[in-house]
Amino acid sequence: MSELPFLPFAKPALSDAAIEEVVACLRSGWITTGPRTQQFEDMLTAYHGGRRALCLSSATAGLHLALLALGLKEGDEVITTPLTFVATLNTIVLAGGTPVLADIDPATLNMDIARLEAAITPRTRVLMPVHFTGLPVDLDPLYALAQKHGLRVVEDCAHAIGAAYQGRRIGAFGDIQVMSFHPNKNMTTGEGGAVITQDAAVIQAIERLRFHGIDRNAFNRFAKSGSQQYDVALPGFKYNMMDMQAALGIHQLPELDGFIDKRTALVENYRKALAGWPEFQLPSAPAYPHRHAWHLFTPRLRDNQAGLDRDGFIQAMKERNIGIGLHYQSCHVFSWYKERFGWRPEDFPNALDAGNRIMSLPLFPTMTQGEQERVISAMREVLGKA
Ligand SMILES: *Cc1c(COP(=O)(O)O)cnc(C)c1O
Repeated sequence: MSELPFLPFAKPALSDAAIEEVVACLRSGWITTGPRTQQFEDMLTAYHGGRRALCLSSATAGLHLALLALGLKEGDEVITTPLTFVATLNTIVLAGGTPVLADIDPATLNMDIARLEAAITPRTRVLMPVHFTGLPVDLDPLYALAQKHGLRVVEDCAHAIGAAYQGRRIGAFGDIQVMSFHPNKNMTTGEGGAVITQDAAVIQAIERLRFHGIDRNAFNRFAKSGSQQYDVALPGFKYNMMDMQAALGIHQLPELDGFIDKRTALVENYRKALAGWPEFQLPSAPAYPHRHAWHLFTPRLRDNQAGLDRDGFIQAMKERNIGIGLHYQSCHVFSWYKERFGWRPEDFPNALDAGNRIMSLPLFPTMTQGEQERVISAMREVLGKA
């Protein structure tokens, strides 16, 4: 329909310096885990107030290893939200735990703390909040519950690096946080992730588990100062980050706060443009002080007002060469989970409803005013607005 090029819902913002760093890495002769990964880890540690960062191949690897490091046993329950990327639930299962879902607050789309409390049983071991779209979960009451019941907390921060809760940066306090550097996220290393924690036992377990269970990493072994000898403490995974990936991260991290400012300005424009449209329900902010990382902007379509459903809307936008994301369908409707845990669609009505009506509008730091106007005028056209 449209002559204009396809506008994706997300696009990484890679500076020339980041690209040149990857080339320098390739020319250096050391392309896997090594000095650039170390440098990026040190930068992430400093960014999170000195709490230790461990770089990995993905956030999925980070969630998996964080849960393994906590030593989940068969039947141990991990409470999380149904409205997340399925990696959150998959890693609970892969680490030997049982996912237990607490429905979301329909206003913020984050896990509802009262429902979370109601889901705690004697078998609960871990709380796994997800800072959905980059909006921090209400962490003070969550950590109070963790303390009261002796639970560990693994925060899925895939959307939330750079966000803040009550004036404190996400990842700069609390138990264990997991960041994602997937290309759609707020900063990228191609693929990649990191765990942030101060727990010495968790740090040691992840250092081993991320590289075959070997106590020394490959850089130590192959560098001049390293030793060829190593010991295997336990069978581990191949979850290390490469220097080619860290080369991007070294240049992305100093730009992160500026990226979030650009995202915030774009969201304000969307809010102004969509204000008063009965067809959309816009995300609302909680009362506590916070900095939203605006990884995603997720209005929900009101089918009865719009005259078409969410999937029809996404299709109509695609025909106008505009990509709309879907984050997410509620995880409790996926076949394996339905069958394994007996979850029915109506068990988590708020997540089910959000998952059926939600969409992610194009939002990325290099998005131009013209591109944003294109999105808004295509939305008007699809809805038959003047
Ligand atoms: C992207 C994402 C993940 C997984 O991140 P990867 O780095 O792609 O493994 C986990 N949880 C949430 C909420 C995500 O959005």
